[in-house]
Amino acid sequence: MSTFLPFSGERIAVVGLGRAGLPAAARLAEWGAEVTCWDDGAPARAAAEAAGFALRDPSQGRFDFDALLLSPGIPHLLPKPHPAAVAARAAGAPILCDVDYLFRAVRAAGSQAAFLGITGTNGKSTTTALLHHILTGAGRVSEVGGNLGPAALGLNMLGSEGFYTLEMSSYSLERIASVGFKVGVMLNLSPDHLDRHGSMAGYAAAKTNIFARQTREDFAVLGQDDDLSTGMAAGLTARMVPISGYHKVKDGIWAEGRSLRDADGEIADLRDAPALPGTHNAQNAAAAAAVALSLGLTRADVAAGLRGFAGLPHRQELVGEIAGVRFINDSKATNADSAARALASYDRVVWIAGGTGKDGGIESLAPQFGRIARAILIGRDGPAFAATLAAHGVAHEVAETLEAALPAAAAAARGGAAPVVLLSPAAASWDQFTGFDARGDRFRALVQAMASADMGKA
Ligand code: ADP
Repeated sequence: MSTFLPFSGERIAVVGLGRAGLPAAARLAEWGAEVTCWDDGAPARAAAEAAGFALRDPSQGRFDFDALLLSPGIPHLLPKPHPAAVAARAAGAPILCDVDYLFRAVRAAGSQAAFLGITGTNGKSTTTALLHHILTGAGRVSEVGGNLGPAALGLNMLGSEGFYTLEMSSYSLERIASVGFKVGVMLNLSPDHLDRHGSMAGYAAAKTNIFARQTREDFAVLGQDDDLSTGMAAGLTARMVPISGYHKVKDGIWAEGRSLRDADGEIADLRDAPALPGTHNAQNAAAAAAVALSLGLTRADVAAGLRGFAGLPHRQELVGEIAGVRFINDSKATNADSAARALASYDRVVWIAGGTGKDGGIESLAPQFGRIARAILIGRDGPAFAATLAAHGVAHEVAETLEAALPAAAAAARGGAAPVVLLSPAAASWDQFTGFDARGDRFRALVQAMASADMGKA
């Protein structure tokens, strides 16, 4: 029986029992809370019941809980608040996220472990993983998770010397109530998830929470490569460290070409960091370096970490090379902006795209269309993407599935159209896959099968 019971007597409704919900329920119960679980899906409810949790829909009857822990994927604000959120609000109960409970538990245990939060529209996972890599490479203790990897309440307790390196989605930031980040990072902002946040202002407001509750001892690492991000400087309490992927910033960290620099000179040559190609990754590298240096790591620690970083799957991941054609899996590019970064990294590509498109479709990619030798379109919005490409005179075909798209793309590339086949969908995957990772895994498997068949022929 645990004697650490920071939430003893607290009645918490946990709603949404996916990747984050069930581990959260288990941890909160272990820490003394009275946990009641709910999910709109019967299979998730059955799993919670099998794990021994009480089940009840908190939107039915009186809301007699001290707080609602709502899965990040479930909205609590207008336009589409979940009924459990409506009930909690009517009862005056806070709606929280799992990072809040981790923070409270860590502090209740007497630990001053620092919370590092990373957000932005694109580059969160890469920057989070890179920072964790730099910290651990320099001998620091870091637990990495949040939106990436294990959910917050699946992480280990750390002592005061430790770091929680957390990828924070706008969904989690919307309902964070107690955490003040030692270092908050805001990489960039462009239209995404507007269906959920209602407007760009709502989305920006959620992201700004990364800097809420900071003190003057803390750091705010702020991207200077788009207007919405730079505009956030006005409301900061923490010390600001500006960063850029491509232009000099006063008192900050920036990349000039492939040279990562600050006022004291070069920190690292990004040509030695093969997993971080492109301007977008220079921004991520600048952000991770800014955090690490703020925390007192050395320039040598940062340079070594950048060099040794292996990259993440599904982000411009090279998954095969067949007959001189490189196959790149960038399935994580679920919006037009991130696909633009990937397209900009290659001179000429056969582009596989499509799925569940976002507001605005791919019109904003027009400046990159010249790089596309041929586009092969899949998924629900393949035909809509095709219409945009047709209007711009880009060669394309609709293949519907990835299984059909890959041979068509490979044939075009091998016919001399381009040396690269790039899956960078500019769309979510939900119409055909369980997530971007399943889509990328499928692409990798198809490329590997094609490579084996090719070897068999040779
Ligand atoms: P996130 O976790 O924010 O979705 P990732 O690090 O997983 O970001 O990268 C997602 C995609 O966004 C990648 O495929 C890459 O092409 C693109 N990307 C990565 N970093 C940036 C950045 N700093 N700015 C714009 N696009 C980026």
